[in-house]
Amino acid sequence: MNIDYSVLKKYPLCDRCFGRLYGKLIRSSNFDRGHALKLAKAIELEEDLRTALEKMNETPENSEVNPTDLEKLEEIKELMYALHKTGTSGIKLDLIDDIEKYETKFKNEAEYEKNEECDELCPWCKGIFEPENIEKVAENVVEALSEYEFDSFLVGTKLPKRFKELENEIETPFMESIRQEFGRELGKVVVPLIKRRVDKENPDIVVMVNPYNQKVTLQVNPVFIKGRYKKLVRGIPQSHWDCRSCRGKGCEKCNFTGKQYMTSVEEIIAEPFMDVMKGSSEALHGAGREDIDVRMLGHGRPFVIEIKEPKIRKVNLEELASKVNESGNVEIINVEYGVKKDVHFFKNEPHKKTYLAHVECEEKVSNEEVAELVKKLEDLTIDQRTPDRVSHRRADLVRVRKVYKAWPHMIDDYNFELKIFCDGGLYIKELINSDEGRTTPSVSELLNKKCICKFLDVLDVHDYEDAENI
Ligand SMILES: [Zn+2]
Ligand SMILES: [Zn+2]
Repeated sequence: MNIDYSVLKKYPLCDRCFGRLYGKLIRSSNFDRGHALKLAKAIELEEDLRTALEKMNETPENSEVNPTDLEKLEEIKELMYALHKTGTSGIKLDLIDDIEKYETKFKNEAEYEKNEECDELCPWCKGIFEPENIEKVAENVVEALSEYEFDSFLVGTKLPKRFKELENEIETPFMESIRQEFGRELGKVVVPLIKRRVDKENPDIVVMVNPYNQKVTLQVNPVFIKGRYKKLVRGIPQSHWDCRSCRGKGCEKCNFTGKQYMTSVEEIIAEPFMDVMKGSSEALHGAGREDIDVRMLGHGRPFVIEIKEPKIRKVNLEELASKVNESGNVEIINVEYGVKKDVHFFKNEPHKKTYLAHVECEEKVSNEEVAELVKKLEDLTIDQRTPDRVSHRRADLVRVRKVYKAWPHMIDDYNFELKIFCDGGLYIKELINSDEGRTTPSVSELLNKKCICKFLDVLDVHDYEDAENI
């Protein structure tokens, strides 16, 4: 095992920091390890120095001293002086006859001395392990957390760049990072003060501290709340849209709200939650979205709302749900706490859908024709090229989707309703009007009459297995 003491000539590391360079060896404190290593070396050096001096003295008056012997002597004296300088007491400085030379050399060569912030402190730890410093950091942590409700937390240490660089430069394979040691020491003080669970996997709040300036920053993890929403009226988008004229800045057209639509499903759901939880922002993730003019009925559409950086995490979900439901426009049900991966699930799982479409034909249509249409639609594969109206935000390609079943309801000679159970991602308006042949087959094509979808409701978003049982 080679202990590299020469690092002490460049950086006057304290015992604790020198011991940390070999922190994975021997279960002792870094201070004890560093202290013992330095003492052992000092003993060895003292003996080496005596031997070397004796050898010099034995050199006959007129003969030259071997240059390598001289070099070796210099090296011993220099390291002895370095050990002395880094706090090893008991070094016999009187054995070093030309001590001024090392004093100057040390001063000039030690790079840390060139740094203006440098003082007599160890250049690695800079005194951060002093109890007053740890207490001050702990105090700042407690204060930063005081306005947040949380059950679990984790404290991390962030090293300023130049300390990280120093650490990289002097690293040994057995080193423990100063981050680890500081975290451990701070934990001893902070954990009893905070009296909350330390969670390394999924803490409510991550506290990052800079031990050198006592600054504390918080990463407050979001709260996820999931449920299903129904949109009971037409004319509301799922999420906020910027005003088309001013792009959100506010203009006469939007009455200086910056909004294209006065409200959205997202805003209606988010408001009561944000009021109580005092998040910095929020995001609604829905399992797909319906058009503005389409209602969402039945069992509703699954959603997760993410409340970012909440001050309050534990709320009465039922109470907040009924506040949302008071809007009369949006209703939420099955509301419960979720987890981050719900967002991914809702965004990526394909969900089959059931729709109710009001179809209007240009020509008269008979009961028999509609009955025939419904038969043809059963288990029918549809090739659907990206509709014109969404082509600006969707890739232009042909999607293959299936209609599984349809149920008719006649209204009059020109109008009928069609309940359609189909794959998610099938555009129903285009399924009916054929989108100028981009969707094939279509209701217009199958009836051989021009039809449009006058109204559309989503009756169900099936996110359960037996979607057949509708
Ligand atoms: Zn130190
Ligand atoms: Zn505007």
